[in-house]
Amino acid sequence: MNYINLKARAKINLTLDVVGQRDDGYHELKMIMQTVELYDRVYIKKIDKPYIKLKSNLEWLPLDSRNLAYKAADIIRTKYGISQGVFIELHKTIPVAAGLAGGSSDCAAVLYGMNILFGLKISRKELADIALKLGSDVPYCLMRGTALAEGRGEILTKLPECPNAWVVLAKPQMSLSTAAVYKALDDIDLDSHPNTELVIKAIEDKDILKVASNLSNVLENVSIPMCPMIGKLKKSMICNGALGTLMSGSGPTVYGLFDDRIKAQMAAETIKNEFKIRDVILTKIFNA
Ligand code: ATP
Repeated sequence: MNYINLKARAKINLTLDVVGQRDDGYHELKMIMQTVELYDRVYIKKIDKPYIKLKSNLEWLPLDSRNLAYKAADIIRTKYGISQGVFIELHKTIPVAAGLAGGSSDCAAVLYGMNILFGLKISRKELADIALKLGSDVPYCLMRGTALAEGRGEILTKLPECPNAWVVLAKPQMSLSTAAVYKALDDIDLDSHPNTELVIKAIEDKDILKVASNLSNVLENVSIPMCPMIGKLKKSMICNGALGTLMSGSGPTVYGLFDDRIKAQMAAETIKNEFKIRDVILTKIFNA
């Protein structure tokens, strides 16, 4: 095998709770993660030269060791003594720095792809350990589907498949720093938390209406004041027929869940025109 083509899919959070502070500086999280169909294309090819070469459709994306796809290839080559290099082409469709784990998903795809391409037979557990070194969301991106993520995000429990729904993603142009969002959260008292167990029960019962009406992300308490468009987008999702709406991860992307494709498509068009934002994407729940 000389090359491999992969789809690195985006994720949304159905819930995101911060349940404590850890000694290592990270927050103790409890969140329900869900893969969506939207993906970056990741092409990996063996080359004779002993280095990693990256190419992307986004000219401003770093293509050196700052890129998570590069880091993934690098760590595998070093750890398993691979002298051959790789050429990696990233065709990005997932909005960058959006709370959709685009970089983490590219990273997971390269870990998975290198394992296959070089016949390394790395176990799931070992690959997950390497993944965590590269980012908190990377182990989940390797697993995909519906999962409860705890700890930094690496303690994963597979959940039953989330019922199908159409998903409209809308990303404000403004970026939010993940570090700044979590830091701001430390300065406030939270008066409510997601009912994670209730959402898990709703998933088990295949009750999309109950899932949608209990979406919750504690980070909205600080992200909405920082970027008021998040709150406005949420209102607009509901006005345009969403069953429920939430900010994904540390934002700023807002998504709406819809039970009908046409309704979702119309909502996406209305929101795109109303808010004059480029990144409005219609996708759907993806179960691996
Ligand atoms: P998460 O939800 O895991 O916090 P995110 O969706 O908020 O992720 P990413 O799209 O992963 O954010 O990008 C965050 C930063 O990572 C960007 O500043 C970007 O420059 C850098 N980055 C490194 N590698 C990649 C990659 N392959 N794709 C996108 N961004 C990357």
